[in-house]
Amino acid sequence: MNDTAPTVDTQEVALYEIRRRIHPRAVHGTFAAWRWALVFATQAVFYGLPWLKWGDRPAVLFDLAARKFYIFGLVFWPQDAIYLTVLLILSALSLFLFTAVAGRLWCGYACPQTVYTEIFLWIEQKIEGDRLARIRLDAAPPSLKKFVTRALKHIAWLAVAVWTGYTFVGYFTPIRELGVRTITWQLGPWETFWILFYSFATYGNAGFMREQVCKYMCPYARFQSVMFDRDTLIITYDPQRGEPRGARARTADRQAQGIGDCVDCGICVQACPTGIDIRDGLQYECIGCAACIDGCDQVMDKMGYPRGLIRYTTERALSERLPSSSIVSHLVRPRTLVYGTLLLAIASVAAWSLATRNPLRVDVMRDRGALAREASPGVVENVYRIQVMNTDERARRYDVHAKGLPGIAVAGIDQPVAVDSAGTRLVPLRIAAPLEPAGAPALQPGTHKIELIVTATDDPTISRHEHTTFIVPR
Ligand code: SF4
Ligand code: SF4
Repeated sequence: MNDTAPTVDTQEVALYEIRRRIHPRAVHGTFAAWRWALVFATQAVFYGLPWLKWGDRPAVLFDLAARKFYIFGLVFWPQDAIYLTVLLILSALSLFLFTAVAGRLWCGYACPQTVYTEIFLWIEQKIEGDRLARIRLDAAPPSLKKFVTRALKHIAWLAVAVWTGYTFVGYFTPIRELGVRTITWQLGPWETFWILFYSFATYGNAGFMREQVCKYMCPYARFQSVMFDRDTLIITYDPQRGEPRGARARTADRQAQGIGDCVDCGICVQACPTGIDIRDGLQYECIGCAACIDGCDQVMDKMGYPRGLIRYTTERALSERLPSSSIVSHLVRPRTLVYGTLLLAIASVAAWSLATRNPLRVDVMRDRGALAREASPGVVENVYRIQVMNTDERARRYDVHAKGLPGIAVAGIDQPVAVDSAGTRLVPLRIAAPLEPAGAPALQPGTHKIELIVTATDDPTISRHEHTTFIVPR
């Protein structure tokens, strides 16, 4: 061996970082109150809606088997898929607008992942105790007390998760029927699967995955930065005010000691559900929950310093030391104007379209097996099938007429045609026209354009004019 050969230092680097379990510290304050208000509001809507009745049916029901969506007084059919597209566009535009204006408001206050994690954390705190007690319990050796405490927590979590799964399926099957079928063990395989799947997803995501969903699975965290600009509201630490940080007595003169307002207590880090230190600057892991603001404000109050060392502000206001009023004056800017205008325009058109929606749909199909025939001497008949859809909540009767040729008439059906509420009916019918109508030129062989008119007997404004063709054989 050559003793003079250079030695190579090797260092092992782990590519997989073992997750450190985060036990966020509970904090109280303005933003915690807002978060809980949003938890109550969103969950009241989610758990309550399937139980609301609208007449004799659920107010909100996505009946996939019948291919009808009921939303209060509205009934949507597969033909209304455009409204779903519009809803998705509006949701995306709202997300863009709110992100450009106020950063990750959705993530911090209303995202189901945040909301259920908040609920599961609350249960954990009630059963296992505060942050320190939970850390000690984690580190404690196995014991009956530890087993019972943990079992109680998981039972409570599972109860919430299963109720959530049951509620979710209650949007697709009337929830009262679902309850009866659950008790009598008559659930279908799909209902069973989705209750279990959604329960498992809630239990896993809110109980175990928690911040990992936001950090590694949510795509929004990755692309939200492109929607941010210097005037977007962000939660940030004020380093000019806070640094140099350091512990001190409450009565210490920080100016004399040459230190900033941050007492380096670490409460902002302990309160953070994603385990980051906001003092390191804006990070994609920050979900904008504002727990660090509440935690730090409590410290500032105790120290007798002004609140807001960590606060909602904008990059521009922070770097240029602008007053809070300047944040409001920068709300309207090209990006927010474009998002806002588009949102308003599309929402207005969608609302107008919904308000003036015709509750009658008619599809006309020619019978390809019997195109045209001479039904009686001098009279030609064409055969059709019409599908009449009544999207209204009440049964209706319709008159069917034809026009476009002299003497043309609808035959072969009992008029008026009755269709159930939110129902559809396929009606075979014949249209007849005389070859030599009185007072009009004779009908020439070939294809003629005609119109089929379907009108509600009780409301002439509910009417459809469908164009089709009438064939006269040679
Ligand atoms: S840094 Fe603050 S706002 Fe961001 S996730 Fe942590 S506690 Fe919430
Ligand atoms: S809570 Fe406030 S004072 Fe305490 S470490 Fe965080 S920024 Fe500093």
